[in-house]
Amino acid sequence: MIYKRSSALFAEAEKVIPGGVNSPVRAFKGVGGTPIFVKEAKGAYLFDEDGNKLIDYINSWGPMILGHAYQPVVDAVVEKAKKGTSFGMPTEIETEIAELAVSMVPNIDKIRFVNSGTEACMSAVRLARGFTGKDKIIKFAGCYHGHSDSFLIQAGSGASTFGTPNSPGVTQGTAKDTLLANYNDIDNVKELIAANPDEIACIIIEPVAGNMGCVPPQNDFLQKLRTVCDENNILLIFDEVMTGFRLAKGGAQELFGIKADIVCFGKVIGGGLPVGAFAARNEIMNHLAPLGPVYQAGTLSGNPLAMAAGLAMLTALNAEPEIFNRLAEKTEYLHKGIAKVLTDNEITHTINRVGSMISVHFDEAEVVDFTTAANGNNDTFKKFFHGLLNEGVYIAPSAFETWFITDALSYEDLDFTINAVNKVAKTL
Ligand code: PMP
Repeated sequence: MIYKRSSALFAEAEKVIPGGVNSPVRAFKGVGGTPIFVKEAKGAYLFDEDGNKLIDYINSWGPMILGHAYQPVVDAVVEKAKKGTSFGMPTEIETEIAELAVSMVPNIDKIRFVNSGTEACMSAVRLARGFTGKDKIIKFAGCYHGHSDSFLIQAGSGASTFGTPNSPGVTQGTAKDTLLANYNDIDNVKELIAANPDEIACIIIEPVAGNMGCVPPQNDFLQKLRTVCDENNILLIFDEVMTGFRLAKGGAQELFGIKADIVCFGKVIGGGLPVGAFAARNEIMNHLAPLGPVYQAGTLSGNPLAMAAGLAMLTALNAEPEIFNRLAEKTEYLHKGIAKVLTDNEITHTINRVGSMISVHFDEAEVVDFTTAANGNNDTFKKFFHGLLNEGVYIAPSAFETWFITDALSYEDLDFTINAVNKVAKTL
């Protein structure tokens, strides 16, 4: 495929936008080459500035669960835009989407809308700290909760020591309050709690990790976290920015039958517009301003266009819960097809899948946490990525990302993809 115009546009962008992109992973740093510029998208397909058609497995990193330019969302946004794009005042539609979200998601009474997943997670942690009166948080290596300071932390000399920042600009003062644990390792979590008695406000987790590839919770890990939180007066925060309204109507809480204390949303809840949200039971949410002392605000929060898009999306998902099974079936079909052709071509691999999230790792060991995810062969991944791109299949340009399956994908698209993987596998 030819990417002449995309390359030219990228060169122009680099002059005025750092790295040519407004979010780093878009820059193809992990795989080499220059990013593709999208002209438009419809259903399961992207159309780029050079006229190439690509089957999209990123889907705006998750939200396009019903495909691009999903008509009810487009119509809702267009109609709303005609009536004004922002007021900074209450509108009825905010209550409508809040009521719908509260009815779909277990264990929440109230929800507050923000503008991104980052804001949702950042605000959830502040609320947890305000509610419990404690400062420290536990997060898991390889889980991403947005780019607010508290989350950009890596382990220092071992996970039980204080965190050290992994971005300049994050202060040691902030880093010391973030403790890092290994995903799926409950003993590690217990050690951190024991070493920091009565200091931990919350544990934040992606209930299915989607930022080190797709990594499912194993051996009742979520249930064990719930128990340990209850025993130590710690709030459990589920970051459902990827999993919310995707794995089930009620997200991972419903799928695994585990209660979280605070739930964070993004992506799907805005139908592709910039939205996030966090939600909890009354006891916790009533600590938020203006009811309570924990401050949180936003000029564009509850923006009418975003609410209209989100409401159209959630309404569609709520009306047809079968969608979640259908998505899981398509994902299983893809999983089996890819596994077969990689095995036939003797390519070492592991595939992880939960619902409509799936990832291919080029290592034979099970991928259960960040360390095992990082062991994958990145050179093979790079070739795999570029090979698929050349065949018209667009997966995320990083081995640490999940593929997102959309309902707009047909079985012909899935077969096309499996066939493309077969062709590429012969070149690896
Ligand atoms: N949490 C998770 C689980 C995410 O995957 C992301 C984004 N990929 C975020 C939070 C941050 O969301 P945003 O990019 O909208 O700030």
